[in-house]
Amino acid sequence: MVSGVSGNITGRGFALNVHRTIISVVVITVPLLLCSCAGWPGGDPVLQAKKTIECCDPFMGDYQGGWKLNDGTDSGSLVARVIALGKGEYRVIFYDAFDVPSEPLAALNGELEGSKVRMTKVDPNVGTFDIEASATIEADQLNGTFGGPSGAGSFELEKTIRLSPTLGMKPPDGAVVLFNGKNFNEWEPTQKKPGVDQVQWKRVKSRAMEVVKGAGSIVTKKKFNDFKLHLEFRTPCMPEARGQGRGNSGVYLQGRYEVQVLDSYGLEGKDNECGGIYKVGAPLVNMCAPPMQWQTYDITFTAPRFDNAGAIAQNARVTVVHNGVTIHDERVLPGPTGGALDNNVAEPGGIYLQDHGNPVQFRNIWLVEL
Ligand code: MG
Repeated sequence: MVSGVSGNITGRGFALNVHRTIISVVVITVPLLLCSCAGWPGGDPVLQAKKTIECCDPFMGDYQGGWKLNDGTDSGSLVARVIALGKGEYRVIFYDAFDVPSEPLAALNGELEGSKVRMTKVDPNVGTFDIEASATIEADQLNGTFGGPSGAGSFELEKTIRLSPTLGMKPPDGAVVLFNGKNFNEWEPTQKKPGVDQVQWKRVKSRAMEVVKGAGSIVTKKKFNDFKLHLEFRTPCMPEARGQGRGNSGVYLQGRYEVQVLDSYGLEGKDNECGGIYKVGAPLVNMCAPPMQWQTYDITFTAPRFDNAGAIAQNARVTVVHNGVTIHDERVLPGPTGGALDNNVAEPGGIYLQDHGNPVQFRNIWLVEL
C-alpha cells in the first residue's frame, strides 16, 4: 500500500460517498425494496445503485479511504474494487485512485466467514513491491493492515457508489431516439429468420431492454454516418463466470466497429474488455462499474472519408466516454472489427447490439447526427 504516492484522490467530481446516515436509511427501507433488483423510476439514484449492486453481492463494489504508517510518518489516499467470484470467494484490488490510469498496488484473495469477508492471500503477481497484508470487509467497511519495505501500517476504506454524470441524460432537440423503453420500433434482428422479423429481446423494468440468449443481435433500422451516441447498459450478476463469458455484449458503430460490453470490473482493461474497441484498442482507463450498476457510453463517431477516386483518405475515428471519463480520444479505426455486419465502410450503418448469450441490459439510447 505504501507506494510513495500521498495526497488526495483526484475525484473527477462524481464520487458520491455513502455516508453512515444514508446507510441507516437503507437499513430501515430494505424490507420495502427487497427483491427489486430491476431498478425503479424515481428515488435517490445512489441508493438505487447500491441496492441493485448488493442484490448481486453485498460486499462487491468500490471502496475509498486512506492508509497510514503506524509510526505516523506517511499517509495517503487509497481505493479498492471488490470482485465477487461466487461460492463465497472474493478478490480485492487496491489502487491510488479511481478514474485515472493506475497500476494496481496490490491484490488480496479471500472468502466469506460468517457475516464478513476475510482476505489474507496476497496475490504475488500484482503490485511492484513485496507486502504482507490482510483485510476484512464488514458492514460497508474494508479495513486491514500491511507491512512491507516502507514500513507497517493500516488502511480504512468505506464503500462508495460512483455514478456516471451522464446517467439519465435526456435526448436534446433534434436527437434520434432509438430506445426509450416503450417498444422496439426502431430495431430489427440482424438476421431475420423465417417467420420472425421482430426483435425477440425482452423489455424489462426501468425502461430497459435485455438480451435474450439465442434470439440474435439487433440493429437499428435507420443508418447513420457521423453521430454522437448516448447509451446506458448494465452487466448481469454472473459471479461464477469468467473472462469473455461474464456479461458479454457489444455496441457496434455503423454495424462495423465494436465497443465491447463486458463485466470486466477490476480486470486489467484490455482491448477485448469493457470499453475496448474489440482487438483494436484498449481503454485508456478501465472504467467498468460493478455488475448490476447502470453505466454510460457517450460515443462520438466520425465515419471514414474518401478521395475522389474512392480510396480512404481518413479512417473512421471514435471518442468514447465511459461513465464520464474519456477512454478513447479520437482513436483511429483501421477497419471493421470481428462480428461486423459488413465491410462496406463507405456506406452509413446502424447501431447494432450484440447477443453474446448473456442477459445484458440497455436503456436510454439516442443519438445526434453530426
Ligand atoms: Mg462483445
